[in-house]
Amino acid sequence: MKNIDNYDFNGKKVIVRVDFNVPLNEKMEIADDSRMRAAVPTIQKIRQSGGGVILMSHLGRPKNGPEDKFSLKHIVRHLSALLDTDVVFADDCIGESARRSASSLQPGAVLLLENLRFYKEETAGDEAFAKKLADLADVYVNDAFGTAHRAHASTAVIANFFPEEKLFGYIMGNEIKSIDKVVKEGEKPVTAILGGAKVSGKIEIINHLLDKVDNIIIGGGMMFTFIKALGGKIGNSLIEYDLVETAKNAMAKAEELNVNFYLPTDAVIADKFANDASTKYCSSNEIPNGWMGLDIGPETGEAYKEIIGGSATILWNGPMGVFEMSNFEHGTFEVANALADATKNGAYTLIGGGDSVAAINKYKLRDEVSYVSTGGGAMLEYIEGKKLPGIVAIMGE
Ligand code: AMP
Repeated sequence: MKNIDNYDFNGKKVIVRVDFNVPLNEKMEIADDSRMRAAVPTIQKIRQSGGGVILMSHLGRPKNGPEDKFSLKHIVRHLSALLDTDVVFADDCIGESARRSASSLQPGAVLLLENLRFYKEETAGDEAFAKKLADLADVYVNDAFGTAHRAHASTAVIANFFPEEKLFGYIMGNEIKSIDKVVKEGEKPVTAILGGAKVSGKIEIINHLLDKVDNIIIGGGMMFTFIKALGGKIGNSLIEYDLVETAKNAMAKAEELNVNFYLPTDAVIADKFANDASTKYCSSNEIPNGWMGLDIGPETGEAYKEIIGGSATILWNGPMGVFEMSNFEHGTFEVANALADATKNGAYTLIGGGDSVAAINKYKLRDEVSYVSTGGGAMLEYIEGKKLPGIVAIMGE
């Protein structure tokens, strides 16, 4: 298969789907540029091997055509600094200005197209729109893992117009490699740590992981649906009643497959959902009415640390508690540190999903783990075993 390292970009115009969906503050300044930084190696590689780069991305969720606050013009200056070159901006992703700038693009130069989602054809996966984008270039590179689970014009449909000249950028390649390293080739014991608010977003992953892992560790608000399924008292904790049966089935399947399924034995409980609530420790299945579990307790933290320490491959998705509030972040902090320690001791650790990434960043442990996935939803769907349109468009079925 063609890849970015062995492809000859010399003299070619290369249209690259990047994920520049960065948070902007009220002054239209970039609050976090990590997605832009992540794309730099792919862009520089193409430039250094003589290609001209046409960048396309979405930003936010514009509803009805162009809107200033969703314009990619706000990131041009910073992008120019990151790439150490003057980036040209086309104020429309298709049409005359894009065509003109693309046709005069020199080797090594960089053109950024305006927000793709100013056209509803982008998310609709419109063929004619995809063709207009494709006509700007000779080669298509997809480096936007965060949207790989969407069959949009720029993430999938466009690839049809490049039967041969299509490839993954470094981010896409690395994401696929790192997830495969856990779910396809994970060295045993393999442990999946799942937390976050809801079971509903995670139950399919749990089911899919059951025949791939040795241990499943549960934390976060979703633990209470499982504890309820076992007949525990959960007070006013978060619960999804319609999933109690599903949770029960997942635990039964785990037992059948000899997967250790760990639920918290204790919790930090609070008398309201606020950082200044009264708090105490409590058995996780004996929570009184009027109280809610907002973090795993110290006994659970110790037990989880031990399991993590004894694992060779670890996947972490979702916080152990309401880590945004300092009184309920301890469990998440402990798990994040245990992952950093495990990595030091040779384990392979993959962190994915918006909130666990936010947690790992908050504790400044990003460089202490093996890989931090850039695409929450895409990562989860890939782990669930779904075929992602952005991957299929390049690799085939
Ligand atoms: P998710 O998007 O499902 O990964 O959930 C992440 C959110 O779950 C975070 O904002 C946490 O604050 C929240 N969360 C974690 N534990 C709890 C809990 N015990 N009760 C309520 N919310 C929680």
